[in-house]
Formats: sequence, C-alpha cells, structure tokens
Amino acid sequence: MKKLQMVDLQTQYEFIKDQVDSTVLDIFKRGTFINGPTVKEFQSDLEKYLNVKHVIPCANGTDALQIALMSLGLKPGDEIITSDFTFAATVEVIALLQLKPVLVDIEENTFNINCEEILKSITPKTKAIIPVHLFGQIANMEEVIKIAKNHNLKVIEDNAQAIGATYKTNQKSGTIGDIGTTSFFPSKNLGCYGDGGAIFTNDDSIAHIIRGIVNHGMYKRYHHDVVGVNSRLDSVQAAVLRAKLPLLDFYNERRKEAAIKYSIRFKDNKNLKTPIVYDNCQSHVFHQYTLRVLNNKRDELSNYLNDNGIPHGIYYPIPLHKQKAYSDDRYNEENFKISIMMSKQVISLPMHSELQDDQIDFISEKINCFFKD
Ligand SMILES: *Cc1c(COP(=O)(O)O)cnc(C)c1O
Repeated sequence: MKKLQMVDLQTQYEFIKDQVDSTVLDIFKRGTFINGPTVKEFQSDLEKYLNVKHVIPCANGTDALQIALMSLGLKPGDEIITSDFTFAATVEVIALLQLKPVLVDIEENTFNINCEEILKSITPKTKAIIPVHLFGQIANMEEVIKIAKNHNLKVIEDNAQAIGATYKTNQKSGTIGDIGTTSFFPSKNLGCYGDGGAIFTNDDSIAHIIRGIVNHGMYKRYHHDVVGVNSRLDSVQAAVLRAKLPLLDFYNERRKEAAIKYSIRFKDNKNLKTPIVYDNCQSHVFHQYTLRVLNNKRDELSNYLNDNGIPHGIYYPIPLHKQKAYSDDRYNEENFKISIMMSKQVISLPMHSELQDDQIDFISEKINCFFKD
C-alpha cells in the first residue's frame, strides 16, 4: 500500500509533469514572472470553465474575500452575515475591514449556513451574506439568493472548498451570488504550487472596481482612485493551474468515487454518520470527507488513528463565535447548538484524487475495528 496522506500532490504531479515543467521553464527563460500571458490565458480558461463573465486572479483565497468585500463600498459597522463553522479567513477579512461579522448557526445535514438563522439575524445594518460551500458542498443558494433579493443584500460565495461543483440551477459554484471567491492553495481541489486565488463575477461594474483594487486602486497607470492592495497570481502558479484545470472534473469525480467507497464501508457502523449528499452528488466535490462520530469518542478515534499512522483532520475544533478574536457578548451559546455539536463530532479522512482502493479499505477497516467492542 502506498503511504497514506491527506492529499497526494506528488502522485498527481507525475501525471502533469511534462506540461508543467515545460511551461514553467518557458516562463523562466522568458522572464515573464508577473502579469505574463499565462495569467491571462488561465483567466480566460477559467471564465469558460465556470461560464462566468469575469475572473480576476489574485494572490490567495483570503485576499479574494477581502477584495470582494472592499468592492461593495461598505462603511465601518456594516453587518456581514456568515457561518459560525468555517475556516477563520471568512470572518477575519470582515473584521479587518472594520465591518461587523454576524455569525450564525449551520444545518446539521450539510454543515452549511442555516437560512432560517440568516433571516433572524438581519438588521437595517446588514449589507451582505457570505455563504461558505463547506467541505465542497454548495450551500442552500436558492434560499440565500431569495433572502438577499428580499432584503437588498449582496451575496459573496466563499468557494475555496467547492470549485467545480454544479448547483441544481446548472450554475457552477461561485457564480451564483454577486461575487464568488476561491483559493488555489495546493491542497484545494484545484491547487497550484504556492499561493493563489481568484474572484468571479458576472457584474461588469463590480469586475471593473475589483480590477483596480487588486492593483493598488489604479484604473489608469499611477492614478490611484481608491485604496487598493497588491494581490496578484504569478505566472508560475497560472502555468500549474492551466495544466490542472482540464483535469478538474476528473479530479472531482475521483474524489466522489472515493467518498462513495468510504460511505459504503461505514454504512453499518451505527456510531458514525457519513456525509449526506443531494442532487445526485453534483453539488458536492468532497474537498473533505467528513464523518460525524456519534458516541462522544471523536478524540479517542483521533488518537487511535494517530497510533495507526492514519492521517486525518479536525475541521473545525472550535466554532468561530468561541474564538478569542471573534467572541462577542452578543453571541448566545443557545444559538449555536449545531456548530458546537459538530466541533465535537467531526473528523475528516484522507481525501484526494489519487486515493487507492487498498488505502480506503485499510482506513475504513481500522476505523470500523475501533468501534467494534
Ligand atoms: C482555504 C480557505 C480560505 C483561504 O484561502 P487561502 O488561499 O489559504 O488564503 C478561505 N475560506 C475557506 C473556506 C477556505 O477553505
């Protein structure tokens, strides 16, 4: 059996080595490291793949979120509703811009933001909602969009974990709301060999504003109309992404196959709850395969997996409203029952496009064995 890893970027690289090596060497020879033609080509490839009017590449997924928020012309104190159960980047950028994060609880079945809780949290200061497509599964966008329309709010999709997923409306994740953001961090479903990110929108005026923000607020050379940032995708990363994009659907299909195999092996295990999928699995690209441990033994299982050399992750062990940086007197534990419960139950197993059947068998047999007595 091959060595177990959460992701196996080495094996993945072997298959695209020739193309990556030659385009990267070409960039080295031509010296077009920043704003070279490869970045433009990748941008256009991704626009076609997503069927979206504008892709604006940037330096990472956190920048993408920050820049998306900066493009909305908000004032300090404006409220942004997002999920209590996500990676900190989502709420961090809200706080950095002196906006007010309003965290809400999630749904038990999908780990995604609960739309009834969104409705309860709307005030006259609410300006936007940031649904996160957690673990690769698209949030309830139909309902999010409906709420946003009724209350005149903008929607920014944090699509860092779900690139390539297709919603029931046939739209790609990240192109359903006003703005979508993604990360090309190496372990994401479409990852580069360093940092990278992108912003998507079908709105021409938002796209124009964002193109200036990513480039120091310049719309004309050395004329700085707004406060911007420096956030670029470099040519080497774009070359890697160009090689991988045509394989993204294949990668995601391989992840789904692995997820289905895991779930079959756990189906008789009463102590585990396997991921719930909808839409014939089109709206889930399994960035993570996340189990719920129902008998309060999650941490024991984690130790057991460590002892057996099985890598795994706990995403996320602390809900955001309990984090020192984001805790606030206005939050009431009662309102976060599901995210608190999930933080104690979840455990994510190795999941990537190179996972082999014998690895899935080994991991699931060990886990089933743990629960046997
Ligand atoms: C990875 C991730 C980000 C941040 O992406 P970086 O490229 O690491 O900055 C933001 N949100 C979510 C949900 C993520 O998983």
